[in-house]
Amino acid sequence: MKSFSEIKYHLLYVLPLILFISSSYAGSVKSVKIQDKTNVIIIVADQMRRAGMGFWSQPEYQGALNGVSDPVVTPNIDRLAAEGVVFNQAISNYPLCSPFRAMLMSGMYPNKNGVAQNTHIGRLAGLKPEIKTLTNVLFEQGYNTALFGKVHWHVNKPLFDQQGNYQGTENAPGGHYIKQTNFDTYVPPGKSRHGIEYWFQNLSHVHKNPLIYSNDPATMAGKNDGQVHTNGIYSAVGQADRIIEYLQNNRQQRDTEKPFSILWTMEPPHGPYESLNDTDEQIYNTYYKDKPIIKLLNRPNIDVKTAEKFVRYYFSMITLIDREIGRVLTTLKSQGLEGNTIVIFTADHGEMMGSHGKMSKNVVEEESLSIPFILKYPLKLSHRIDDLMFGIPDIMPTLLGLLNLGDKTPDNIDGVDYSSIIIDPKSTKVNRPISSLYYGKEGEVGVRTARYTYALNNSGQLFALYDNVNDPYQMNNLELKDIPKKDRVLLNTELACWLQSIDHPNASLPSFNRHVTLFPINEIDCHR
Ligand code: CA
Repeated sequence: MKSFSEIKYHLLYVLPLILFISSSYAGSVKSVKIQDKTNVIIIVADQMRRAGMGFWSQPEYQGALNGVSDPVVTPNIDRLAAEGVVFNQAISNYPLCSPFRAMLMSGMYPNKNGVAQNTHIGRLAGLKPEIKTLTNVLFEQGYNTALFGKVHWHVNKPLFDQQGNYQGTENAPGGHYIKQTNFDTYVPPGKSRHGIEYWFQNLSHVHKNPLIYSNDPATMAGKNDGQVHTNGIYSAVGQADRIIEYLQNNRQQRDTEKPFSILWTMEPPHGPYESLNDTDEQIYNTYYKDKPIIKLLNRPNIDVKTAEKFVRYYFSMITLIDREIGRVLTTLKSQGLEGNTIVIFTADHGEMMGSHGKMSKNVVEEESLSIPFILKYPLKLSHRIDDLMFGIPDIMPTLLGLLNLGDKTPDNIDGVDYSSIIIDPKSTKVNRPISSLYYGKEGEVGVRTARYTYALNNSGQLFALYDNVNDPYQMNNLELKDIPKKDRVLLNTELACWLQSIDHPNASLPSFNRHVTLFPINEIDCHR
């Protein structure tokens, strides 16, 4: 039996010591937990090509961009580039709105994620609700998850009343599509939001008066999730306002004990770009109104007549989103969140803007295919230019790898985790790919290497072969006989192995293989 003095000793010294150790241990666990959490902001512009960033014309970047830089003013993106890793070979594997977004979310190519074309009235295309996406994983791992802007991954069904309020039924009183938009639709709460808690969705291409759906009534004049709202504020400006509030957390939109992930999918510089209704008048007047058209349309492959009506508005929309990105990044810094936040800036695809006589996107040429990609992570990365040839499905596993959540990446995705290379460009843990896959419309497939763009149509016939080094503006569409045999074999082998590895339907299609100009894709052994 313990003596009184022994009990007293324990009460006086041992118990407080245990309490002190346990409380300080809990304290240290808590503080480590908070410090360890890295926030994420992914900014996706729409229809903004890689050349559309001003910093490319600075001396440091000479030779890093294939071809000339657009004469655009983007001081905030330039600063982000100067502080981050600039990837100069990033492409949108399928240069179209919905396929890009579905690849970004799912880590899968279109044949697996359900979005092999734009979601649209009358089509069944839509991101499969059961797929565990990037935001699902982040939510499961304790992140506050938020979305601002365009979604365009959801199957488009007639579930609304005449005013655009969600009814959730094809029967009366529902049964209408949302007015003003036949391509995108509201995403109701549930699985199709893929783990995203805070929802601020914008619809339509009316830049200065988008349709708004949100689960934060304070942003909607008190309206509820599913009720449509408009406020006449330019889409990207309204989104930046909401993101700034979210970062400041002035209405407890998020839990400050948790890290956050923000997906900001802006709609500019998407068309229409036809009048001052589409942009900011002051920016237009200051930077672009009086600039000679020949200085604006500076690519030798441009048909000036095709683009001259649009380019001033297009470029001024780029400067407009640059301004809004600057506001958000300034707030991130003033809130003390900059150091431990990964910021990614990219776009879903480019814009032809008169090159080869074309406008818009969804073609294999460089102005459509090439996209901005900047990744800033002050705690772990300093500035560099990197020519890593990653694809959009690689973003999910790579980001999870950077967040030390690599073991939470679902097994069934196509993407590869390149976080080791991003942290250490000399790392040999994963091979640097030598090509990216082009997964185009109507069964078009191809690869883009550092030198070539090579693409076949759905019948296996060559329709594009460009030497991007010697012909950066892709003025000469080559035949296979024009390039060395080793290059022909490499391009065909790369394509074959891509199609086989992602289980692309063309790989096993006899009609496709019969017409492949070089040798059948399905006979190539990729188990090298
Ligand atoms: Ca788009």
